Amino acid sequence: MKFTPETYKIPDVPMQSFIDTDEIWDYINNTVSTPQRVKEVVEKSLAKNRLNLEEVAVLINAGDAESIEIIKNGARELKKKVYGNRIVLFAPLYVGNKCSNNCTYCGFRASNTEAVRKTLSDDELVKEIEALEDNGQKRLILVYGEHAQYSPEYIAETVKAAYSVKKGHGEIRRVNINAAPLDIEGFRTVKEAGIGTYQVFQETYHREAYKTYHLRGKKADYDYRLTSLDRAQEAGLDDVGIGALFGLYDWRFEVMGLVRHTNHLEACYNVGPHTISFPRVKDASMLQLGDKYFVSDGDFARLVAILRLAVPYTGMILTAREPEKLRNELIQYGVSQIDGGTKIELGAYTEKTAAAGEHDLRRGQFRINDDRSLNQIIDELLRQDMLPSFCTSCYRLGRTGEHFMEFSVPGFIKRYCTPNAMLTLAEYLVDYAPEETAEKGWEVIEKNMPELNQKVQNQVREKIEKIKQGERDLYF
Ligand code: SAM
Ligand code: SF4
Repeated sequence: MKFTPETYKIPDVPMQSFIDTDEIWDYINNTVSTPQRVKEVVEKSLAKNRLNLEEVAVLINAGDAESIEIIKNGARELKKKVYGNRIVLFAPLYVGNKCSNNCTYCGFRASNTEAVRKTLSDDELVKEIEALEDNGQKRLILVYGEHAQYSPEYIAETVKAAYSVKKGHGEIRRVNINAAPLDIEGFRTVKEAGIGTYQVFQETYHREAYKTYHLRGKKADYDYRLTSLDRAQEAGLDDVGIGALFGLYDWRFEVMGLVRHTNHLEACYNVGPHTISFPRVKDASMLQLGDKYFVSDGDFARLVAILRLAVPYTGMILTAREPEKLRNELIQYGVSQIDGGTKIELGAYTEKTAAAGEHDLRRGQFRINDDRSLNQIIDELLRQDMLPSFCTSCYRLGRTGEHFMEFSVPGFIKRYCTPNAMLTLAEYLVDYAPEETAEKGWEVIEKNMPELNQKVQNQVREKIEKIKQGERDLYF
């Protein structure tokens, strides 16, 4: 895969800031975009090349209907051709919402006196994980506020607890983290606990805007946050996730920032981010945020498609912050992971009382807009002939950089990803699915069989038989 490097005003040096605000605005303000140029850039991406900032600016500046269609169709084609029709499923688990920062957009901020503060006890943590396993979850992301109590050692303990809880056939096979940035020693500690991806979102890449949202606490230090994932890399943790919170500043700038961050990690560590997240700001307890930078659904779809084309090898995450209809649409443009059965109020997976759609904002970080159960999400994916996957095999076999391999190693998806998606779906169908979902699920597995060569088909069928006999965790 080729990347045409550019010379940046601030060169890429490990552990040093790399965002030059004026330079990013120069790209946005001075790059001309025509449908012809858009076509060329999209073709470059479809030929499996990374886009540089100038090329991303061409896509960002494409405002006419024809160009937007070219971009969306390009993202759709890339997704279909390169990744097939799998979607990986996960669930967030909020462990504690104490926070010493004061991010103005967040329900957990220290000054929010309405917030009901809670940290799960050991027993509550186990119960939450059991409840998640009972639903069929295999992949979690643990989420924490930034607080002295949530030290690297504490995070490591909760991760180990998540891996150790087994109920029936249930087990958690991958634990990702979204927590405050750590120092190098701290990243080492959580790596040793066996975490998957460590996510830190920059929130906004615009230094001045960043200041206005983060007036106090450790998070006020823009550069410390920007270099978080450099420290992770220095600690040997190369599985990192970046993100921007859309709605804090101009979306065009944030897209450029995310790509610049990717370029930085590639230049310094020879490995890009494992995942990119693009949350949009949602309602939160006592939220007072203007709508100056509100991102419309139309622009949101555009920016997702642009990110897909700009960094074709990276996983893209879309959460239950967004409503069902929009999620269904955006999946087409290259999203590879979604959460299902999501509850973000502390301790809510164990509660049976709250009806779907009922949220107590004082207990959660923000309002989610997709309340479907995991099974409802799986039903919908199957209805669209997509293959829901709980696969964790690459990471457990040490095949790191699997998105990169999916993207660049011929036959990788047919050899590993599709078979593993089928096997993890088969486990779900046997252990957790209602009859109707199971019927549809087996059909979709059959429909995908011809994609595989005869030898792999035989191996998959053999393994599915073993799953039906009670064996678990079979993968390629
Ligand atoms: N406390 C850690 C930190 O700030 O890095 C963990 C992150 S926080 C629990 C997870 C992410 O939620 C934040 O990085 C932010 O992007 C996002 N977030 C915060 N407030 C939000 C809101 N009102 N709507 C949508 N997302 C929000
Ligand atoms: Fe705390 Fe994170 Fe919320 Fe900021 S975004 S207030 S650091 S939990």
